[in-house]
Amino acid sequence: MLGGTVMDIRTRYHRMRGDATLWVPGLDHAGLATQVEVRRRLHRAGIRFEALSRDEALGEIERWKDEHEARIRAQTQAVGFSIDRSRYRYTMDPASVRATREAFVRLYEAGLIYRGERMVNWDPTLRTALSDLEVVHREETTSLVYVRYPWADGTPGGLEVATVRPETIFGDVAIAVHPDDPRYRDAVGRSVMIPLTDRTGPVLADSAVDPTFGAGALKITPRHDPIDREIFLRHPELADPPDIFDASARLDGDRVPAPLRGLDRDTARARTIEALEREGFLLRQEPYRHSVARSERSDAAIEPRLSTQWFVRMAPLATPVIDAVRRGEIRIHPERWSLTFFRWMESIQDWCISRQVLWGHPVPVVTCRSCGRATVTVEPPVACAHCGSPELAADPDVLDAWFTSWLWPFAALGWPERTSDLAHYAPTDVLVTGRDIMFFWVARMMMAGYYFEGQRPFADVYFTGMLRDELGRKMSKHLGNSPDPLDVIREHGADPLRFGLVFPNPTDEDGPFGATALEGGRHFLTKLWNLVRFAQPYLPPGTPAPAAPPRLGPEAALEDRWLLTRYRRTAEEADAAIAGFEPTRAATVLYGFVWHDLADRYVEIAKESLAGRRGEPARRASAATLLFVLERTLRRLHPFVPHVTEELWHALPHDGELLAVARWPDPAEAPIDPAAELEMAPVLEAVHLLRNLRAEGRVPLEAVPRAWIRPSGAEIARVLAAQRGTVERLAKVAPLELLAPDAPAPTGAGSRVAPVGECFLARAAPTAADAEALQRERETLATLLAKTEGRLADPVFRGRAPPEVVAEAQGKAVDLRDRIRRIDEHLRLGASGGLAP
Ligand SMILES: [Zn+2]
Repeated sequence: MLGGTVMDIRTRYHRMRGDATLWVPGLDHAGLATQVEVRRRLHRAGIRFEALSRDEALGEIERWKDEHEARIRAQTQAVGFSIDRSRYRYTMDPASVRATREAFVRLYEAGLIYRGERMVNWDPTLRTALSDLEVVHREETTSLVYVRYPWADGTPGGLEVATVRPETIFGDVAIAVHPDDPRYRDAVGRSVMIPLTDRTGPVLADSAVDPTFGAGALKITPRHDPIDREIFLRHPELADPPDIFDASARLDGDRVPAPLRGLDRDTARARTIEALEREGFLLRQEPYRHSVARSERSDAAIEPRLSTQWFVRMAPLATPVIDAVRRGEIRIHPERWSLTFFRWMESIQDWCISRQVLWGHPVPVVTCRSCGRATVTVEPPVACAHCGSPELAADPDVLDAWFTSWLWPFAALGWPERTSDLAHYAPTDVLVTGRDIMFFWVARMMMAGYYFEGQRPFADVYFTGMLRDELGRKMSKHLGNSPDPLDVIREHGADPLRFGLVFPNPTDEDGPFGATALEGGRHFLTKLWNLVRFAQPYLPPGTPAPAAPPRLGPEAALEDRWLLTRYRRTAEEADAAIAGFEPTRAATVLYGFVWHDLADRYVEIAKESLAGRRGEPARRASAATLLFVLERTLRRLHPFVPHVTEELWHALPHDGELLAVARWPDPAEAPIDPAAELEMAPVLEAVHLLRNLRAEGRVPLEAVPRAWIRPSGAEIARVLAAQRGTVERLAKVAPLELLAPDAPAPTGAGSRVAPVGECFLARAAPTAADAEALQRERETLATLLAKTEGRLADPVFRGRAPPEVVAEAQGKAVDLRDRIRRIDEHLRLGASGGLAP
């Protein structure tokens, strides 16, 4: 909703400016994520996903997808996104199948896709490989276990080896130490017994060993740890052992003692520690805090696993993108995210694109059963490309869903066909998305754009922040604190939701969103609604649509000249903010203008002339000014709150069928009148000061106290004299008297000194509520005083208490009497009607 609202603001803004706008809606099949959700739903219904046949499982996934597709469509419709539904695309539709295969084949033929045995992040719950981006790292406390590996030749002692994963001991092939570690100079080249097994392993030297970890000796389990794998590969004398875990990360295989086979990692760890202790190999255990890798999808601890996967070589794809962003061909907003972007791009790893799940595009590779070679073609092959045999075996894996999504900026326009949409709209202009998928999606789209089309996929990327709830927690489906937009829209309306998302929290930061934001949006729209209702009676039927601002001469009312100028400045700032990818600043500027300048100031001031009390020419000028500014402001607010503005626009004299396709108004059509701004400044300042004095003196709302201003100069005196009625009405004071420079200051008045001059406001009489509060305060103090006096009158207290305690009680009594006396004064004054000068 947040990203969509920002996109819709841009789309509507550009459409009104006359630009060719296209917002293509699409849905991605979210391979693994979808399968996880379906698995969870079936689990709740008591069905094991793994027990379903392939077709049944795919049927469940299709059903889930159809439901969500319908819901997403209903949400985007209800919130009013102006997307082109006729161009709706789905990452599993036939055109996407074609595009995905095309991309795979091109990369494969260029040698950028390869199949390799790699240590992958294995999720033992979902039983699939995950990309690095799907893994989260969390600090967790576990046990560091110190184990003695005895010398193989039977000499006493052995090596002390520390490990957090003692259950992997059955996969050990060696012990490695740092070559410069003096403790192990004589150990390198010897052999140790691997505890709980009948195998031995050599002690070898490798500079990848961290001598500060544990005792500085590292057990080498080449199939279950990436660092161990690297060390193993540098020592070809070591034989590659079999896996000791199955796909669910349960101990498995001949190397594992029979009683431990089939145990999950946690149980296996406990049992291994027991066995080590029983057999005398356990030296000690200590608590250890370290970073544990977990699956973002299932939360299972990642098991590094050696497996055969498909990879994309990323470095050649990343280089042109890094260059393009550096020279500003693609711009990142807000710019601070460029640093994160470059850091990742410059150390990019190859992309593991195969997944061991059902849901997704099959890896488009078939292997010949006769000659054993691979055929990789866009059209699914019927025979081996090398020997012609029809005996072909499909690859069992599917592709990472991002392997389709990364093609989206051009695939959604028809690529690889040279469609007219592609010719007309590619490269696109703007991508708006959450920064959480900066690497999953945004960076990869850039790489695909330069690789497949030789050009940028878009010119600007805008990253929104991640919404949090009002308690500051990340919104997530699991926490249940992410409301269904349809419910929010039913309860609050679409426009309050849209406005609440953009204002007041910056859309590019992780701000809280909830009832407060929605209420704020609703209040603003009510204010706007009331403004139009206020204006309607002054715009009788037949009033022409405002083609241009009214021409106001210097003799025109100050408020009309000032409002046109304020409108011009607001319009310029809002337009610059939208163009500069600052939607929140645009909304803030428009909000401030509508709320403060238009509703609170102008309408209050112009009521006189609108009502005709200053004559017919003044009435006509103010009505024309109000209509022009309101109509243009509705246009400018339209991208933010399209429903309410469309409705209100039709309630005012207007020209055209729909506000949605009305022309975006040029700020420059309104004049700038610096004299009006200069003159209005002291008036607004005086009102502001007098309002503050009212609040401070707790002047009741209905009271109209006297006020004085001693202007700081002759020019200000002239302006204030001319606008005296305005200040009186806005600050609700009467009469307002302008004091001569040498006149004495009024007594008994609250005062303020400011650039405009000295302001004074007569203090109003305390209200009944004030008197009651004072009376209550007096009673509390009197009780305290009675207690203190009682203690002081007690001879036991006076005789026994230390002198400083007695002195303190005496001081307290004096203080209390003084405070009661002052309250009595206020109460007397209140009763006599206050301090009037
Ligand atoms: Zn063949």
